[in-house]
Amino acid sequence: MPVSTNPDVMEKLVSLCKRRGFVFQSSEIYGGTGSVWDYGPLGVELKKNLKDRWWHAMVRARDDIQGIDAAILMHPRVWEASGHVAGFTDPMVDCRNCKKRFRADDPKIKGTPGTPDAQCPACGMKGTLSEARLFNLMFKTFMGPVEDTASVVYLRPETAQGIYVNFLNVQQSTRQKVPFGIAQIGKAFRNEITPGNFVFRTREFEQMEMQFFVDPQSDHMQWFEYWKAQRMEWHHGLGLSPERLHFHAHTADELAHYARAAFDIQFDFGGTLGFQEIEGVHHRGDFDLSRHQEYSGKKLEYFDQPNNRRFVPYVIETSVGADRTALALLVNAYREEEVPGESEGRTVLGLHPSLAPIKAGVFPLVKKDGMPEMAERIAAELRRRFPVFLDDSGAIGRRYRRQDEVGTPFCITVDGQSTQDGTVTIRDRDTLQQERVAGPFVGDYIMERIGN
Ligand code: ATP
Repeated sequence: MPVSTNPDVMEKLVSLCKRRGFVFQSSEIYGGTGSVWDYGPLGVELKKNLKDRWWHAMVRARDDIQGIDAAILMHPRVWEASGHVAGFTDPMVDCRNCKKRFRADDPKIKGTPGTPDAQCPACGMKGTLSEARLFNLMFKTFMGPVEDTASVVYLRPETAQGIYVNFLNVQQSTRQKVPFGIAQIGKAFRNEITPGNFVFRTREFEQMEMQFFVDPQSDHMQWFEYWKAQRMEWHHGLGLSPERLHFHAHTADELAHYARAAFDIQFDFGGTLGFQEIEGVHHRGDFDLSRHQEYSGKKLEYFDQPNNRRFVPYVIETSVGADRTALALLVNAYREEEVPGESEGRTVLGLHPSLAPIKAGVFPLVKKDGMPEMAERIAAELRRRFPVFLDDSGAIGRRYRRQDEVGTPFCITVDGQSTQDGTVTIRDRDTLQQERVAGPFVGDYIMERIGN
């Protein structure tokens, strides 16, 4: 794992996210819920913008991918077929002294767990670590009025299975021909044992997954390469620095037994976290559809009419976490810098304008001479097209800082000249340049620069 040369900004981000309403700890007034987070007013906009970009690129801008929204609760047999009941486990060790639990492969553990020389990374005691045991990561609950083993259902640990079981429903209702894909965005739940690092690893999170169905007799590896390239390009388009992104090929040990090839897209989160997976691109062969055929007893074959052939397609999967990518965006965007000619520095989130929660701040320079009224009129007009924030309190420099810190790309100031000739100044978050623009053109000026 390459060591990161980028600074660790996580602590500063956690504090900024709480102070400015991006992310709050779940049930905070009760002391919080372990590794579950709530998105506040700005966070929900950021994540929504991110999901919209994914949906646009993967579904709306293409004619070979269909979207769905499958239920979180599925038939329990689904998870037997998928292999999650038997295999969705992490080997864990417990410390008998401090009662903490660790992944068996935690690099901080010295020695072999279960032997007297093994040392607990938390309390430092020797010989207190248990042998590794398997731990199922799926959340269980009960369906219906009776809580017995017959009514056990699971909260889905990934969204993909909702796509597999609907493969023929979607194909037949849309008359898609292989190769084609199915995409969905939705919540997934994993009872992670060593969660942490803010929203990097949580117990409830959102995935954006797409399964692309291809003919096993076609050049399917070419599709795998195509999706690898497409997905990396998408991350570049979000404004993530290319030098902070790379592919990590799964080694023979990491590769699932049925997988033909797998690459992770990793992002450098800085500090000790360093490069970590944000998306997986997997060639899954016909494993999933074949297993569902076997467990459900229903055929999941595609009928290739021109060639009068039936086959179970291969699947190329792209699976990206919305929360983890939102965190990557924040880490990538965070910077502290000097401002030329000013004694006070500033904190900036250099988010891509299309992802920024607020697109423009609107400020009356002073609270008199018709400026507040004009600012309100402009804000109301712009609000029909994108989110704006009207701020009339404090020195203008302070108001700029408040918007810089949440990534607002443009700030519009209504000054003395504005009430005379109808123009306003628009300041660019990154260049700090100001331009004077006539009131009626402000909306178009910003829309053009938000891009997509
Ligand atoms: P990891 O090895 O980090 O646990 P994984 O290989 O299990 O991840 P996948 O099952 O391939 O992850 O899930 C695809 C994507 O879903 C990941 O790249 C990540 O962005 C996201 N994801 C998975 N687990 C979590 C989690 N607990 N919290 C937040 N995001 C997650």
